[in-house]
Amino acid sequence: MDTIPHEQINDFRSQLRGSLITPADAAYDSARQLWNAMIDKRPALIVRCAGAADVLAAVGHARKQGLPLAVRGGGHNIAGSALCDNGLVIDLSAMRAVRIDAARRRAVVEGGATLHDFDHEAQSFGLATPLGINSTTGVAGLTLGGGFGWLSRKYGMTIDNLVAADIVTADGSRLHIDASHEPDLFWAIRGGGGNFGVVSHFEFELHPVGPQVSAGMIVFPLDEARQVLGRYRDMVDTMGDDLSVWGVLRHAPPLPFLPNDWHGKQVLALVLFSLLPADALQDAIAQVRSFGSPVGEHVGALPYVSWQQAFDPLLAPGERNYWKSHNFDRLADPAIDVIVDYAGKLPGPECEIFLGLLGGAASRPAPTATAYPSRAARWAMNVHTRWQEPAQDSACIGWAREFFARAAPFAASGVYVNFLTADEPDRITEAYGPNYARLRAIKAQVDPHNLFRSNQNIAPG
Ligand code: FAD
Repeated sequence: MDTIPHEQINDFRSQLRGSLITPADAAYDSARQLWNAMIDKRPALIVRCAGAADVLAAVGHARKQGLPLAVRGGGHNIAGSALCDNGLVIDLSAMRAVRIDAARRRAVVEGGATLHDFDHEAQSFGLATPLGINSTTGVAGLTLGGGFGWLSRKYGMTIDNLVAADIVTADGSRLHIDASHEPDLFWAIRGGGGNFGVVSHFEFELHPVGPQVSAGMIVFPLDEARQVLGRYRDMVDTMGDDLSVWGVLRHAPPLPFLPNDWHGKQVLALVLFSLLPADALQDAIAQVRSFGSPVGEHVGALPYVSWQQAFDPLLAPGERNYWKSHNFDRLADPAIDVIVDYAGKLPGPECEIFLGLLGGAASRPAPTATAYPSRAARWAMNVHTRWQEPAQDSACIGWAREFFARAAPFAASGVYVNFLTADEPDRITEAYGPNYARLRAIKAQVDPHNLFRSNQNIAPG
């Protein structure tokens, strides 16, 4: 920080409508906190933008001064790429406006909005678009990597619903892009992450959703997990787009519908979601129940906005986190064996193995239709290792890496870029598969000097 003269900081500050936070400011430490408490970076300048003009000024300042640059949407990325050491952070957390055009079923969402900001506004019209499962996540980072959640089997990935974006590129151009204007760049931002510029506004297609949906979970003892997961896998083969069922293996939280003596015990929860009324799901619920001897269940009607926040208490910011992820096209028996084996050795009560179900509408676009290529992946498995004390770092990270390596022989190629940690740059080519060369060529055109490199970086090629 001492290396940036005061006059330069004051001059830059005078160009902004938002605020400029430096290490000398009281707000500095809170402004450099991310969802993952493992990340401890010290930027020189944090620009809390008030609008697209501030984004433009900040991009220009970083470029002219040769400063490392990072972009923060919701601050949830596990890799901590929303911050950089000794550089400039474009912090969009004050840009959270969401405007709904109900007649056209469109939403214009600012680059710092959270999933809850979006859902809250859209649901007041009974509308939504597919987003993720933790409401404090940023719409921006989630969308730019692909984005999937409870609505994805019905309505596709988040990017499949992105119709336009306003982007500031490395040379200071402000572009409104869509399928007809800058189509290559529009293709690239649908999965290519923050490599191509700063998106100040996203425009999404909306769908009628709820406001009441049917959701909940059926919880089995871990002892039955092999059998239950095998039957779940077979059920998915014929499951329609109207139903989504995810698997979570973890220590049972103290949910009111679970008997007290099951709280804290190891379980497999099959989590159901549908836009259909619960009455229409009775067969599916009975089928899932029949997979084993559930220790508890609750599936019923509730507001979509509440369901979108249902997992928040288990995923609150401020803890230490380490992830490992594999895609699976099919959960072969040996894969299930490894999953259940490692679920039996979870290194802490907050750790979990998440099996996010894709397929349905998310699988229909061609792998090259957007930059996100993993359309054949039926499950994205994410190993959420989560703990509080630094003394547990090596045990928790060691467990995740060991599990990841043991599961690797049964995994599909490809990985969801938004689940990659900072120590996996070697997996970026895997994440982009057939689209990697085209992404490198577009990067070379719009960001030849790699100004936007605090991300899962696509080197200009
Ligand atoms: P940030 O850390 O702020 O940003 C991540 C990166 O995105 C930045 O480094 C930058 O490169 C880029 N970026 C951010 N904003 C902009 C912008 N406006 N313009 C240009 N580049 C930008 N993903 C799913 O798909 N489905 C899920 O259900 C899901 N659940 C999750 C649950 C939790 C608890 C967490 C922590 C993550 C989850 N994710 C999920 C992953 C999530 O999509 C990524 O972590 C995503 O990067 C978060 O976006 P963000 O804006 O909060 O992140």
